[in-house]
Amino acid sequence: MVQNILPHIYHNTFQLRKAEQGDLLFICKDDSILLQVEDGRLSLPRLGELPGVSAEQCRSLFSVDEQWFCMLREGAVEPSAGYDYYNVRQYREFRPMDRLFPVAIAGSLNRWYRDNRFCGRCGAVLQDSETERALCCPACGRVIYPKICPAVIVAVRKGDYLLLTRYAGRAIKTYALIAGFNEIGETIEETVHREVFEEVGVRVKNLQYYKSQPWVFTDTLLMGFFCDLDGDDHITLQESELSMGTWVHRSELPEDTAHLSLTAEMIEQFRLGLA
Ligand SMILES: [Zn+2]
Repeated sequence: MVQNILPHIYHNTFQLRKAEQGDLLFICKDDSILLQVEDGRLSLPRLGELPGVSAEQCRSLFSVDEQWFCMLREGAVEPSAGYDYYNVRQYREFRPMDRLFPVAIAGSLNRWYRDNRFCGRCGAVLQDSETERALCCPACGRVIYPKICPAVIVAVRKGDYLLLTRYAGRAIKTYALIAGFNEIGETIEETVHREVFEEVGVRVKNLQYYKSQPWVFTDTLLMGFFCDLDGDDHITLQESELSMGTWVHRSELPEDTAHLSLTAEMIEQFRLGLA
């Protein structure tokens, strides 16, 4: 999955650190990030490499192993020297994973910083916290944390069959599992039951937690569950969300070759008879 970058280690413990020459540099324009891409492999500029970008204009973010990453706080630069801006649908296809994952995290942080310049309560300009990854309002004291939305991915089994879906109205045409966001006041298990019933109209039992995944492409923390059909297997599609929902035999499932998403890994686990 995208966060599996071993032997490299992502370090996000908060440090009050200034950006330095040699840091790998994120420059964002709207939802896109400045990258150099060759044969599907991405690389980032270093602070000091691009004219007009100084350390004082950048915010230190995190490190992978000993390598720090920083981000230009405001504005963008004209792409040059083989660099160009790529959006999330484009850069999620790039590799290696130990570069893609930092890029995806930077995309999420960029959305959060960009959308939280001012306090939503009093309108004052927000400042970086000096003790944690947060934005603070100097006028009213409000603290804003990064946006991470909890959601479930649910693999519903019926013997040797798995319930697969396709999203309606999206560019992505690959198979999906049941997925949905946790609501206020709801346990994550209740989210599983509600989302399955809303999307395909069936009941489930035997919930087994599998793994979680920081799906940073959409600021989401996914929690994956396997479970079994409970009762009637008739599917009633929620057509606003899904264009297809069907039971697929283990032997008919597509093989996962991208190794990016929790969804694909869970389908693969079932295909191999491991779940
Ligand atoms: Zn305020």
